[in-house]
Amino acid sequence: MNSPQTLSTSVCIVGGGPCGVMLGVLLARAGVDVVVLEKYPDFFRDFRGDTIHPSTLDLLFELGWLDEFLALPHNEFSTVGANIAGETIGVADFSHLHTHCKFVAMMPQWDFLNFLAEHAKRYPTFHLLMKTAATALIERDGRTTGVKAVGPDGELEIDAKLVVGADGRHSTVRALAGLTVGNLGAPMDVLWMRISKHRSDPRAALGVITTGHLLVTLDRGDYWQCAYIIAKGSYDVLKTKGIEALQQSIVEVAPFFADRIAEIDDWSKCSMLEVRVDRLEHWHRPGLLCIGDSAHAMSPIGGVDINLAIQDAVATANLLADTLAAGAAPSDDELGRVQDRRMFPTKVTQEFQVFIQNRAIDPLLHGAELKRPPLAARLFDEFPLLRRLPARLIGVGVRPEHVRTPDAYATQP
Ligand SMILES: Cc1cc2nc3c(=O)[nH]c(=O)nc-3n(C[C@H](O)[C@H](O)[C@H](O)COP(=O)(O)OP(=O)(O)OC[C@H]3O[C@@H](n4cnc5c(N)ncnc54)[C@H](O)[C@@H]3O)c2cc1C
Repeated sequence: MNSPQTLSTSVCIVGGGPCGVMLGVLLARAGVDVVVLEKYPDFFRDFRGDTIHPSTLDLLFELGWLDEFLALPHNEFSTVGANIAGETIGVADFSHLHTHCKFVAMMPQWDFLNFLAEHAKRYPTFHLLMKTAATALIERDGRTTGVKAVGPDGELEIDAKLVVGADGRHSTVRALAGLTVGNLGAPMDVLWMRISKHRSDPRAALGVITTGHLLVTLDRGDYWQCAYIIAKGSYDVLKTKGIEALQQSIVEVAPFFADRIAEIDDWSKCSMLEVRVDRLEHWHRPGLLCIGDSAHAMSPIGGVDINLAIQDAVATANLLADTLAAGAAPSDDELGRVQDRRMFPTKVTQEFQVFIQNRAIDPLLHGAELKRPPLAARLFDEFPLLRRLPARLIGVGVRPEHVRTPDAYATQP
């Protein structure tokens, strides 16, 4: 049997999602040697979070990459409305945010990740290994000192001063590290699908909510990216009723889809997102740190998951880059500072999401009659100033991060 290929680096990041790639690019830019492992051969994943929030656009501005990014094909929206019980209500208005871009950009996640990876590759210390899955941790004297992985050429052993689990909500790293996950619960799952757009369609409202139904419709130019919210665990029951039953439910809530709902003629046209709201008690142990979805899976309410994952990456780079660039391994205290910094925004956001889930979504999915929009929604509609609050929560979030890491390759004027 061939012995595994061995590599040595400062940081081995497991997972090439928004969190892992953003951390990789920031550390490499600061002169730190980084290996990012991604188990898939490319970034192409349909129906992943495609929202780039004003706070993330601010980060791209701080990095000097914003204009280049906005030159890529994307859509923008600066207000969010919903049709609740037949009434159209304004919910969020991003146009007053104190950010460079006063809108949310919609771009396929793989375009965003390719953009980041292309920038990262300009730094000689950035190494992205695609089609390479982490399978085990290497431990020495109670400390994680690397990762075992399987790539296109066989087994690999990567020695690292720090291993970062950025491998998403079903994280292998956090399971291997034995970190304890607390589940906050979620009453729903989400079926994602795309339905073509016609010129005669009603103007974009982000959501349509009627008794028993919740449909989110994201305007993607020539099609609607739709999220149909179903009661937790009901997907298999729904399937036994046949695809026609799903078609009918969607048309009930959005009648303008009647002439093209036949596009969803098979369950393979739907992608099921099992909604989880959870977080780790401890995000780290000696030599290892989990961030992004692997530290906290968020509810899709507000579409803020990617934002939080990216903010985690920025905070991690800000707090650890100096130590890593000096060739040292971050201490457990330093890793704890990342958790301390990011736990507060995570908790506040999750508590807010759980409140909405329990107060609004759960009753609705279980048949509570919706005769008119709830009071809070009517207030938002009546007092436009109030719409700045959800805009701030969604667009910027709690305690936004800024790029504090240097560009080690910047030429001095
Ligand atoms: C169907 C769907 C729709 C979503 N819609 C939205 C939305 O509209 N808005 C929003 O904000 N968020 C949305 N999300 C959530 C959003 O995609 C995540 O919150 C966000 O991508 C988290 O980033 P992350 O980098 O922490 O994890 P992920 O994006 O999950 O990235 C983890 C990466 O690690 C890789 N990986 C896993 N295990 C290993 C391993 N052992 N070795 C190597 N690589 C590994 C995975 O392939 C993946 O690329 C959606 C998620 C899904 C599944």
